[in-house]
Amino acid sequence: MAWMSSGKSNGDLIDKMVKNGLITSPQIAEAMRKVDRKNYVPDQSYAYEDSPQRIGFGATISAPHMHAHACENLLSFLPLANSPHTGAILDVGSGSGYLTAVLHHLAPQAKVVGIDHIQGLVDLSISNLRKDGVPLASGDDESGVIMICGDGRKGSPRHAPFSIIHVGAAAPEIPQPLVDQLAQPGRMFIPVGEGSQDIWQIDKSRSGEVSKKKLFGVMYVPLTDADKQWRSDSS
Ligand code: SAH
Repeated sequence: MAWMSSGKSNGDLIDKMVKNGLITSPQIAEAMRKVDRKNYVPDQSYAYEDSPQRIGFGATISAPHMHAHACENLLSFLPLANSPHTGAILDVGSGSGYLTAVLHHLAPQAKVVGIDHIQGLVDLSISNLRKDGVPLASGDDESGVIMICGDGRKGSPRHAPFSIIHVGAAAPEIPQPLVDQLAQPGRMFIPVGEGSQDIWQIDKSRSGEVSKKKLFGVMYVPLTDADKQWRSDSS
């Protein structure tokens, strides 16, 4: 169903994902309509294809249907006014910044932190977010989006706890610092595995109990060391 969702415009891409049952929640359709994928991809002619695209530095922007799956899974943990969720949102392996932007539109009052370990990608994502009109916070205390460079396996203790953690690269095992930084309650969506990978949903209850559930098979770039992914002297 995924490839059938490619569109002629951003709106058309979202309409097709709704029609094909890849987006089921109106809030997610609305948030994804606000993020024009052409601002996040190097090759504009494939902006509205429902497929991943290389963005340089050994990274890819994920296919829109994978971003939709992640949002559908995390939706009930969004930090919104009148919800029990008061933590921030963390997007590990933020790459192009696309999903960070969607998460911002889903919870506009929340602090959304994107972290990537390649400075070139952090710079790229900041420029993409600016083109797309997403407000960037200038300091840690403000709401809005903040993009930082660092090892996402360690999370971002200074912005924790997180009601939602999305991980956009596959870890050999679930990084404990990310589990520790989940709010009570909180949910993490993370691809896990080397070779064969699956999405895992990690929930932390109000009382701090952690439960893990395997959801479905996927194919992501690895959550790894920066120099294993890309070297500045490589072409
Ligand atoms: N959601 C992003 C996915 C980008 S691909 C998008 O759709 O644009 C995965 C990203 O994970 C890459 O940008 C890569 O640089 C990043 N990554 C891999 N290992 C990492 C690590 N240890 N810490 C932070 N980011 C990492």
